[in-house]
Amino acid sequence: MEIKFNQLDRGYLKHKSEFDQAIQETLNSGWYILGNNVKNFETKYSAYIQSKYSVGLNSGLDALILGIRAFNFEAGSEIIVQANTYIASVLSITENQLTPIFVEPDEYYNIDVTKIEEKITDKTKAILVVHLYGQASNMTEIMRIAKKHNLALIEDCAQSHGATHGNEMTGNFGDLGCFSFYPTKNIGAFGDAGAITTNDKSIFDTVMLLRNYGSNIKYHNQILGVNSRLDELQAAVLNVKLDFYDEFLCERVALVQAYLEGINNQHIELPKVLPGSTHVWHLFVIRTEKRDLLMTHLKNHHIETAIHYPIPPHLSEAYSYLGYKEGDFPITEKYANTVLTLPLYEGMTKEEIDYVIKVINAFEG
Ligand SMILES: *Cc1c(COP(=O)(O)O)cnc(C)c1O
Repeated sequence: MEIKFNQLDRGYLKHKSEFDQAIQETLNSGWYILGNNVKNFETKYSAYIQSKYSVGLNSGLDALILGIRAFNFEAGSEIIVQANTYIASVLSITENQLTPIFVEPDEYYNIDVTKIEEKITDKTKAILVVHLYGQASNMTEIMRIAKKHNLALIEDCAQSHGATHGNEMTGNFGDLGCFSFYPTKNIGAFGDAGAITTNDKSIFDTVMLLRNYGSNIKYHNQILGVNSRLDELQAAVLNVKLDFYDEFLCERVALVQAYLEGINNQHIELPKVLPGSTHVWHLFVIRTEKRDLLMTHLKNHHIETAIHYPIPPHLSEAYSYLGYKEGDFPITEKYANTVLTLPLYEGMTKEEIDYVIKVINAFEG
C-alpha cells in the first residue's frame, strides 16, 4: 500500500457536484471580484465563528499582515509570539516593521502562558497567539495577561477553524482572528484565500479599506492599501466547504481516534489536548527522539510524513539579523528535532490508517 501525506482530490470528489455547480454558476455570472459569493461567505463565516464581522482576503499571511497593520503600531514596537510557529506568523510582524519577541511552547505545542509576562516590556504592544496544529491555546490565561498589561490580542487561526476554549471559538477571543484557507487547511479553497474575523467595527472598517487599495468608493483612496481581495471563485468553493465542515470534523476526529487508540510504541509520544480546549486536528503530530529513523522506516513502507517545522523562525536564515543562535530556545529546538506529522486527510480509509498504525507499531527504533 502507498500512503501519501495528503490527497486533496478526495475532498473535491466527495462533494464534486456541489463544487462544480458553485464554480459553474460563478463563471456564468460574469462577476469575478468582490461580488455576492464573497459577501455570502463573510456572512456565513461570521455566523460560524460567532463574530460580528469577517473580511475575505487573499491569504492567511495577508490576514495577519493587514490585521496587525490595522492597529498602526509605532515602528520598532514589540509583539509577543511563540517560538515554534510557522514562519508566516513572524513575517506578519516584521512586514509591519515590528519586532517579534519569542516565547517557548508548552507540552501542547502552544505558547507557554507561564513565560509570557517575563517578556513584556514598555515596547510591547500585542500578543500574537497561534493555535498550533489545530488546538485552541489557553485563552483564559492569555486574555487575563493581555488585559492586565493593556495589550492587543491577535489570533493566528490558520490551523484552528472551529477549535474552542471554554465555550468560545478561536478567532473570537482577541481583537481579531486571522484565518488561512490554503488548500491543505481544515477549510481549504482550491487556491489561496484567507479572512479576518473581528467584533470591532473600526478594525473591520480599516481591513475592508486595506484589502482594496485603501478605498471603498472607487478612486477615492482614504489610506495606503494593498490588493488582497478574496475572489468570487474561491468564495464559491469556501461556501460549499463551510456547508460540509461539521461532517469534515466528525470524520477527522474518528481518524485521529484510530491513531490515538491504535499507536502503541515505546519510542513515541502522542499529542495531548489541554483540558478546556478542543483540537480540530489540522495536523496529527507525534514526537520521538528517533524521528529521522522513524521517518525513514515509514518511507521504506511507502508512507509519506512531514515535519512541522524543521527550522524554527529564530534560526532561519531570513532572521539571522535578529541575532539568535542555537540554544536560545531549547524547547522549541527540541520540538523541531523530534516532531513528526502523520498522514491525515479527508477520505482516508480505514485500511489506509490501519496500515500506517501497523507500520508504526512495528518500528523498533
Ligand atoms: C498556513 C499558515 C499561515 C499562512 O497562511 P497562507 O494562507 O498560506 O498565507 C499562517 N500561520 C500559520 C500558523 C499557518 O499554518
